[in-house]
Amino acid sequence: MEFTIPAYVERVLDKLKENGFSAYIVGGSVRDMLLGKTPSDYDVATDALPGEIEELFGEYKTIQVGKKFGTIVVVQKEGNIEVTTFRQDGEYIDGRRPEEVFFSKNLKDDLSRRDFTINAMAYNKETGIIDYFNGAEDLKYNIIKTVGKPEDRFKEDYLRIIRAVRFATQLGFTIEENTLNACKLYSKYLSNISMERIQEEFFKIMTSDKPSLGIRLLKDIGALEVFLPELMEAVGFNQRNPHHENDVFDHTLCVIDRVEPILHLRLAALFHDIGKPHTLTIDEEGVGHFYGHDKLGAKMSKAILKRLKASNEIIDKVSLLIDRHMTQHANLKAKGLKRLLARMGEEEIFTLLKLQKADRSCSNRNAKIDDLIEREEKIKEIIERKEPYSTKHLAINGDDLIKLGYNEGRIIGEILNYLLKRVLEDPDLNEKEKLIQIAKEQFKMSEKWIVKSF
Ligand code: ATP
Ligand code: MG
Repeated sequence: MEFTIPAYVERVLDKLKENGFSAYIVGGSVRDMLLGKTPSDYDVATDALPGEIEELFGEYKTIQVGKKFGTIVVVQKEGNIEVTTFRQDGEYIDGRRPEEVFFSKNLKDDLSRRDFTINAMAYNKETGIIDYFNGAEDLKYNIIKTVGKPEDRFKEDYLRIIRAVRFATQLGFTIEENTLNACKLYSKYLSNISMERIQEEFFKIMTSDKPSLGIRLLKDIGALEVFLPELMEAVGFNQRNPHHENDVFDHTLCVIDRVEPILHLRLAALFHDIGKPHTLTIDEEGVGHFYGHDKLGAKMSKAILKRLKASNEIIDKVSLLIDRHMTQHANLKAKGLKRLLARMGEEEIFTLLKLQKADRSCSNRNAKIDDLIEREEKIKEIIERKEPYSTKHLAINGDDLIKLGYNEGRIIGEILNYLLKRVLEDPDLNEKEKLIQIAKEQFKMSEKWIVKSF
């Protein structure tokens, strides 16, 4: 079988071979080519040593990514290629990455230390596919299977357990029975793995086509309990409410699949009801309610994402979406919508609506989302018509007020907020003269301080 390889990749392979080294495309790129997908990046493995690679590609920019691990990035305008010396891992300690690696002259050594058969193939034009572990067959039958005994391979690096789930989820594959059993047996040791490494795989699961597959698998093998115990409380948690057909966990899985694969939206979907098990009250009719689960969920999601070492941007966006997800049930008039818009911003308001539509659709089979579609239209109109909804849109600003004679300080913000309140009720008031008039009527000026007249 022959594959078309981009010229900039071929160039790197050729250069190594012309100089007497062996060179192959390896790992995920071979897997993707066999699946008929264009690889997102190409990894090259070679028997050239890091220093030799650098010397050979002297005319290009090269970057060392841990020379100790033998990887040199060759930078070309078409893209970067990671060129890595064949490796043989050293001792694994505590199921983490090896303290040291040994370079090897042998491709088989390099492929043997890779995690799954489908990730352990090599290719170049002269040799075709090299597949010592039947990766092509596993790929054909949609199977995730470790290279060698799963117990041994997971003991070397427990992250491979999450990676098995990640590839199963991304590719829609099944984890082979022995590999799955070892996942179950060793998932408790994931506590030895750094959160940064877990996060990377977990986020890939969350942004795949059907993340519910991965989250369910993580639960079944006991991994969720280790790094997301808060979600385990949702499993089997009966909502005792006729509007909610499923337990919180199954509802959550429905919502994550239904929203677009935008990381922060998917995470908000995953954690939106995480406060429910902690806020259950049951009324006289025996119906369950969850007052405040949105606020509590926002708080819990912050703590979880912090633990997962997510960026502050992700943490803020996710917690804000969760905090406001119950606004779907509020009967918001134009004024309320504008307040929500001011808090969310013109992008996240629509992300919130996506979450709310999915949440609603997943709550019970008769749920309707007409009101949310209508709300979306109204918000678009507010934005299109450039209706003022924030103090920034007022025809007057703090400097204007100071020039009028108001003292600098807290009062300026108070006046602007008051003016916004009036403008939200009546957008026609948003003219400088009218606003000055209102300010003067409502807020008296004094030499030293301002006394509110109402
Ligand atoms: P993606 O397309 O998502 O990048 P990938 O297969 O390239 O998938 P990477 O995480 O980029 O995945 O890893 C590249 C290759 O390195 C893998 O295909 C695998 O052969 C090997 N590999 C990566 N991480 C491990 C690990 N923890 N243990 C063993 N081999 C690994
Ligand atoms: Mg990769």
